[in-house]
Amino acid sequence: TSKKATGESGGKPEVMGVLISHPEKELWPGISKLDLAHYYEEVGDWLLPHIKGIPCSIVRAPDGFKKETFFQRHSMPGQSKMLDEIKVSGDRKPYVVINRVEGLAAVAQLGGLELHPWNCLPDQPDVPGRLVFDLDPDPGVDFSEVIATAKLFKDWLEALGLVPFCKTTGGKGLHVVVPLAPGKSKVGWPETKDFCRELCDRIAADAPEKYVVNMAKAKRKGRIFLDYLRNDRMSTAVAPLSTRAREGATVAMPLNWPQVKAGLDPKKYTIETAWAALKKSKAWSDYAKSAKPLQTALERMKKSR
Ligand code: ATP
Ligand code: MN
Ligand code: MN
Repeated sequence: TSKKATGESGGKPEVMGVLISHPEKELWPGISKLDLAHYYEEVGDWLLPHIKGIPCSIVRAPDGFKKETFFQRHSMPGQSKMLDEIKVSGDRKPYVVINRVEGLAAVAQLGGLELHPWNCLPDQPDVPGRLVFDLDPDPGVDFSEVIATAKLFKDWLEALGLVPFCKTTGGKGLHVVVPLAPGKSKVGWPETKDFCRELCDRIAADAPEKYVVNMAKAKRKGRIFLDYLRNDRMSTAVAPLSTRAREGATVAMPLNWPQVKAGLDPKKYTIETAWAALKKSKAWSDYAKSAKPLQTALERMKKSR
């Protein structure tokens, strides 16, 4: 499909109707800005439901991931018409939101290497739309420990009646993600965050030599930091299939649980390999229909105290 939608205009290539300037500029070694635009075009329809209607910060690295990067939250005057903006209470300045696939080409044009949406429901910043358990291993920790920890979260979350999914981050750890439905009782962010903290606390209490639920870096030595802090109104987590401004042009790769086992190598999933691998694995294909309200899980957690 990428060839069809790619045109030329005045010598500059066009992707999804967006002119790409300096298309040959290298963002990672051997990977150009035009390559990034084509990648977003390929994965756009899959990726969009995870970010549509949701404030989405962008890590921009206009001269490549090794040069200066900046984290853009707010929309800017004169930004591409393919991008949208969203106002949220408590902030005068509107946030960037990507509501159509063409917006992803505009992101590539900006040198946007990473997408970091909030975790709310579309168009409802105050309603949690997913839980993210961000497993952050200290450099000394073997990756097999991170894999085992993700599976431990899976068992807990399933016992609580939720449907967890796993993705690589394109970096050092894994994310366990739970899609949420709004439900009748409209559980808000404070309760949601408390729930996540309690789950992390319980898992850490069973193996304090392996885990910390504390921000303090000193306590993380040789342990996995169970980062529950993604679960708040303005907190972000990298989007599935987002590329990373890191060595090797890795992406945050959606996985099937059977793939979360010994031998899993996050470095294998890159801007060049991820889409073909996902078409084959069909990971996360039942993500949307797996969304559950948090209410039942809150009650089960309470009962098991
Ligand atoms: P890794 O597996 O290497 O930890 P990660 O994406 O989980 O990769 P973290 O540093 O654990 O990286 O951060 C988790 C999430 O928190 C990120 O995906 C990002 O959305 C958000 N985040 C982290 N640091 C920042 C920051 N300095 N500014 C804004 N958001 C951040
Ligand atoms: Mn992390
Ligand atoms: Mn973290």
